[in-house]
Amino acid sequence: MNMTLAEIEKRFENIPRKRLVFTPTPFHKLENMSKDYGVDIYMKREDLSGPSTFGGNKTRKLEFILGQALENKVDYLITYGAYQSNACMQMTTFCNSCDIKPILFLGDTKNQGVPTNLTGNLLLSNILGAEINYVSKPEPTDSVDLNPLWLKVIDEANKKKEELESQGYKVEFVPVGCTHEYGWVAYTLLFKELLEQSSANGFEMDYIFHTNGSGGSLPAMIAAKLMTGSKVKIISINVRSWKEGNLITKKTCLDRVKYVFDRLDIPCPSDEEIYAEMNIDENYMHPGYGIPNPDAQKSIKEVARREGMFVDPTYSGRGFHGLMDYIKKGIVPAGSKVVFIHTGGSGSFFSDPKLVKDLY
Ligand SMILES: *Cc1c(COP(=O)(O)O)cnc(C)c1O
Repeated sequence: MNMTLAEIEKRFENIPRKRLVFTPTPFHKLENMSKDYGVDIYMKREDLSGPSTFGGNKTRKLEFILGQALENKVDYLITYGAYQSNACMQMTTFCNSCDIKPILFLGDTKNQGVPTNLTGNLLLSNILGAEINYVSKPEPTDSVDLNPLWLKVIDEANKKKEELESQGYKVEFVPVGCTHEYGWVAYTLLFKELLEQSSANGFEMDYIFHTNGSGGSLPAMIAAKLMTGSKVKIISINVRSWKEGNLITKKTCLDRVKYVFDRLDIPCPSDEEIYAEMNIDENYMHPGYGIPNPDAQKSIKEVARREGMFVDPTYSGRGFHGLMDYIKKGIVPAGSKVVFIHTGGSGSFFSDPKLVKDLY
């Protein structure tokens, strides 16, 4: 396909959207590290996406989720996640802007009980005034399987919804990670900005790297790439596995890419063409979600010390480390033009001291 950016933008005209993101988000070159490694590394600052200091990649999705919620005259939005969820905090910021009341159900994944000292995103969500419900693990609490906890969380959230509805309020759910279908189209517009900003800087992108989690961002980037016929290669550094049997798989991503085409009323390419754009790398998840990786921590320190920029241990630092490893191994060859999407996550620097104790 060879659609122009204006043609794509026009498809958004009739989709409810509440403009809240400061667009275009900043785009800049890492001058020192580009010289150090002989690769032109640019940053797309989705962490600087809105009124909060702690933005991130949930905000573009929230423009569409909140746009629809406002149209539906919703009083409360309920979402859930772990204590330090970026998505819960970001949904709260946008609910506040839209005068919709945010309710969070936070699962106690680490058996911490009801916290007395608030840190990181949990602190921010409290300052922002979200109604917060803590949900403890069902027995046995030492189980590593978190599914029973999330089922309990959803059950309690459902009860809350019914209770509010019986009082006459309009209540909607936002899925974990703000991965709501209304939001899946959002990153088409990020891709459009990347094409505009790289072109304004006089180059064509060879690679886009990003940190991949619940699959709310990648599908629309793949869709936009196919719509525009761009040659860029999108590399996704996963922090959670997408292998068969997990909550999200490549098939989920395929379905979401198709949804994006459908929503924008553009004919969809074949499954094979879509699958061919998925470059999912699961080599940087070790030793597990939310547990620091010593090599990734080195990359986090390096970019802080060379460029004065922060990428966090749970998300953006993992993806950035993946990019640096590709460059060091020559998989991204010298002279390449690379864009890294900074998806946010800086709240985690101030959450659990164990995440950051090897950074100084
Ligand atoms: C949610 C999140 C991601 C992953 O994005 P998905 O759209 O869920 O794949 C990456 N980085 C940060 C900081 C996030 O909060």
